[in-house]
Amino acid sequence: MSNETQAFQTWMCLICGWVYDEAAGAPEDGIAPGTRWADVPMNWTCPECGARKDDFEMTAI
Ligand SMILES: [Zn+2]
Repeated sequence: MSNETQAFQTWMCLICGWVYDEAAGAPEDGIAPGTRWADVPMNWTCPECGARKDDFEMTAI
């Protein structure tokens, strides 16, 4: 099961508005560019406000 052709998506923190771009990742936070949101560790938190993944919502840009 692979969805490699699926376009990268972006996810926005509902608390502070910080955006996670799957194509860009979060290198400063140890998330390599191209990391799918589903592959971001469950214990990862928003670098701006510390919100959990549960507080993020997919956003279209
Ligand atoms: Zn946040």
